[in-house]
Amino acid sequence: MDKPTVGIFDFACCEGCQLQIVNMEEELLDLVSVINPVQWREGSSDKAERVDIAIVEGSITRAEDEEHAHDIRSRAGIVIAIGACATFGGVNKLKNNFDLAEVKQYVYGDSARMHHLNTQPTKGINEVIHVDYNIQGCPMNEKEFSYAVRCLAKGVEPVIPNHPVCVECKMRGNVCRYEYNEICLGPLTRAGCNAPCPTGGFWCFGCRGWVDNPNTDAARDIMDYYGLTVEQLKGKMRLFNSKQEHTDE
Ligand code: SF4
Ligand code: SF4
Ligand code: SF4
Repeated sequence: MDKPTVGIFDFACCEGCQLQIVNMEEELLDLVSVINPVQWREGSSDKAERVDIAIVEGSITRAEDEEHAHDIRSRAGIVIAIGACATFGGVNKLKNNFDLAEVKQYVYGDSARMHHLNTQPTKGINEVIHVDYNIQGCPMNEKEFSYAVRCLAKGVEPVIPNHPVCVECKMRGNVCRYEYNEICLGPLTRAGCNAPCPTGGFWCFGCRGWVDNPNTDAARDIMDYYGLTVEQLKGKMRLFNSKQEHTDE
């Protein structure tokens, strides 16, 4: 079987997820042995007409980004979104809480009126084109990425976790952050990271986005039980999960 051709593309982001790929070091050589990278701005100037797998990082924030995303979709067999910026907008969606003109003024000052600064409300890639697989996290988890790409290279369906971070947190034997009077987003957030934040003494801030059907009733019960409010919970959601489905429930 021929190795699938792969292109890596980016939109508005810090490119930290692509750095995760570079940082795979020796494992990257193993991965390259099962795929054929044909387009990757960070690694080469080559361009390809079509790719079997398009890997897309970053958020859509301009009209021309939407056109570019549609072009990638039309040239790709499979599209994988990597990282919070691409999979659901992540921190870039913080902008959507504010008036766009004020945001531009704040960032660009007197230059805000220049016509090429055509920023628009942030969208995740899946709000613009069909995405086949999401590799979550900020940054994405490189092992999960490698696993998913290897599966697809062999024609196998990768299994993407759809249970909350609390499951992995409990398996690591952590004392719950709510017992320290902190608000943790683990009950709503998609697992797969192995709960490094609660294990390291922080709350989960939801960088992997919500599970498919988050139990918002249970989240409300937790807030009641610990004498906290739903508004406080929503405040914690703003960083990564502004303007997401379920966030305002
Ligand atoms: S998900 Fe995080 S690490 Fe990845 S590109 Fe966005 S901000 Fe950077
Ligand atoms: S610390 Fe967070 S992730 Fe861990 S069990 Fe408590 S709520 Fe869940
Ligand atoms: S514990 Fe939460 S914030 Fe930390 S990596 Fe996992 S999903 Fe992201």
